[in-house]
Amino acid sequence: MLIRLRYWTALLVTGGIAFSVSQLLDEPANLPGPAKEAAALPSPAGGTAQDTSGDDDFAVTTPVADLPEQAADTVSWSRVVDAGGSLSGLLAEAGLDTDASRDVTAAIGSEFDLRQLKPGQLLSLKTSPAGTPYTATLELEDGSRILARFAPAPSVERLAPDLVSVPRAGEAIVKTSIFGALEAAGIPTRFATDLELILDETFDLRTQLSGGEHMRVMWREYRAGDRVVGEPTIDFAQLDLNDGRYEILWPDDNSRRTQIMKDGELLQTFEQPIRGARLSSAFGLRMHPIHKTKRMHSGLDFAAEQGAPVEATQAGKVAFMGERSGYGTVVEVDHGSGVQTLYAHLSALNDAIKVGDRITAGTELGRAGSTGTSTAPHLHYEIRVGGKAVSPLADTRLRDLGTGAATAGSVTRLSSVKSKLDRLLAIRG
Ligand SMILES: [Zn+2]
Repeated sequence: MLIRLRYWTALLVTGGIAFSVSQLLDEPANLPGPAKEAAALPSPAGGTAQDTSGDDDFAVTTPVADLPEQAADTVSWSRVVDAGGSLSGLLAEAGLDTDASRDVTAAIGSEFDLRQLKPGQLLSLKTSPAGTPYTATLELEDGSRILARFAPAPSVERLAPDLVSVPRAGEAIVKTSIFGALEAAGIPTRFATDLELILDETFDLRTQLSGGEHMRVMWREYRAGDRVVGEPTIDFAQLDLNDGRYEILWPDDNSRRTQIMKDGELLQTFEQPIRGARLSSAFGLRMHPIHKTKRMHSGLDFAAEQGAPVEATQAGKVAFMGERSGYGTVVEVDHGSGVQTLYAHLSALNDAIKVGDRITAGTELGRAGSTGTSTAPHLHYEIRVGGKAVSPLADTRLRDLGTGAATAGSVTRLSSVKSKLDRLLAIRG
């Protein structure tokens, strides 16, 4: 098992930060999760920066897979699939003969629909000098891989992404839109949607802008090896508007809370049912993805992987577990005072709880899925007051029943995120 520790001390701004290898290994880097956080690779030019400082930035990486022992004369070959590229064409380019090419195609094709071969995917081969394949790997857009081994015993498997997350930061000045500002600064433009969704009930971002507003953003991008894969995740945004400084802190992979601050004061908090997830659809009238008509969306949607744990946002009593038309597999939790929460499209229910049970905030209710009227795995989350759906972002009744103000933990996280952002931007100079 190869364990590689990477950490940087050269560019520390704050100084005095020391850590030992044992502290590094205490980090949950070997646990399954969306990604491990790493220090950055060299920074590209432009309005963004990557973390090359110390702090928690290190990676413990394991080999791609436990490959069979290979002779020293193994030939490695890899190529990014380009437009119009076919697997057989790539294999011919790699110098494989017809038989070897057929074996590789059959092996990869047994786990992957070859019609889904797309530009940007990466094909890697290890062969003997004579072109006898040892392994073939096709890396997909999300960093997952199809690995075919040909010796000693043939096998094909699909491997989950072995991702490393890299913190990034950037600054932008708004001219006409958030989208345009992000684009001009080299910051992922999808964050304009994240901002719009999370601020939906705070103010209308589009009408609040007069131009010249300054913004700072911190996010994570994901890398498999040296390739950026999947979609980046926004963690923090600071917006300097006419009426004050707004700061938004999104939940990390271990938390469910979003905080919106104005001039350093907590303006709003929001507890969400999936740790680290991002909103994908707002409450209210919107174009329905299946029916293609404007409909009332009675809750919030969160982007979630199939099987992601779904947790109760507040303490309460389990009121319903089962099927509801359109909603698929659902859990409903009663919080008293006529307030209920609903979690829909689940792939599985938690067997350990049943209707009537009293549960605490954070109790796992089930797993995210795509049951009912749904095109892809996501979580639909509703808050109902007196049986009527209300906007989960705007309604304070659920919050008043429980968590209320920011906890010490989330305040600490906010200050650590902000100091990290400062350091990242200072590196860029
Ligand atoms: Zn929904």
